[in-house]
Amino acid sequence: MDFAAVLLEWYEKNGRELPWRKSGHPYEIWLSEVILQQTRMEQGLDYFERFLEAFPTVEALAAASQEQVLRQWQGLGYYSRARNLHKSAQQVVSERGGRLPGSSKEWLRLKGVGSYTAAAIASMAFNEDLPALDGNVYRVLARVFAIEHSIDSAAGKRHFEELATNLLPRGRAGAFNQAMMDFGSLVCRPVHPLCVQCMIQPMCEAFARDRVHDYPRRKGKKQPVDRYFYYFLFYWEEPPGAKQFFVQERDKKGIWQHMFDLPLMESSVKISDETVFTHADWRFVFGLEGWRQEQQPVDLKHLLTHRRIHARFYPVRVSGQARRALHQRYQQTSREDFHELPKSRLLERFISRLWS
Ligand code: SF4
Repeated sequence: MDFAAVLLEWYEKNGRELPWRKSGHPYEIWLSEVILQQTRMEQGLDYFERFLEAFPTVEALAAASQEQVLRQWQGLGYYSRARNLHKSAQQVVSERGGRLPGSSKEWLRLKGVGSYTAAAIASMAFNEDLPALDGNVYRVLARVFAIEHSIDSAAGKRHFEELATNLLPRGRAGAFNQAMMDFGSLVCRPVHPLCVQCMIQPMCEAFARDRVHDYPRRKGKKQPVDRYFYYFLFYWEEPPGAKQFFVQERDKKGIWQHMFDLPLMESSVKISDETVFTHADWRFVFGLEGWRQEQQPVDLKHLLTHRRIHARFYPVRVSGQARRALHQRYQQTSREDFHELPKSRLLERFISRLWS
């Protein structure tokens, strides 16, 4: 039995119908690849359609402001992907007159495009003979061939790449890579693989050894680091009933760079409410007249790949001196305007919890 032939036969009958597959346009394939990294297909599809409607061409994406791009991306997480996509679109327009790269080597010159994305686009759009190895592909190969190399080691990665290159049917790289992706997410799934109805089963080493869940091998997962965020919602009503509050644009490097945030204090350890309110950084407001804590703080947890954020939000009503002092440092927004600003899912959860 030939692995590639069986897989392609399965794909012809069961492959997913996706908009970028129908069009085969490199811009759409590029968008889909960036959006779908670390994102479930159902959620990604929705974002893809909205993103393409907002920025139908690479020129439209390049001409948009970063704020507009982040706004469309909001909720997907991993915001550096959106920033890189935007910068790359500008690079394509300024350096290549809007002509998209035509080979994996050219794609690799764009910011944020790594070997997986370059191979995926070049194989799908131009049928370049390259394997595209993502988590699905590593898992399928590791199980079918019972590979003991760990997928998070350099030697392991080389081994998988060599194997995938050898399996790749020349001239059919696009279909093969997409078949691997679909097979990995629909059949050889991470937690509940459908081994009983799997066409590959007769040649699957992991199944034969009853060790499906032992693959893929990993050296060891890093535990996420705990971070403690103490947020202040400094708000008032003007006119009565219309909530106004202060926000700031994050300039600090990191996942939420250039997104809007509430004034906050970050810590690597848990600290008491009293310590937060008497901290020297906040004396410019809590040392003045005109603030009142009318509501209990709200606690929310937010999990990122490498961080576990324990967020505590303090709603503080402000007026007079305190409000004037805050005006010097922060930007005023209303609930309606805030809705239009790019912001983290954490912040969105808090505001809707408090004022829904
Ligand atoms: S038999 Fe199970 S583990 Fe093996 S390829 Fe099929 S679904 Fe994956």
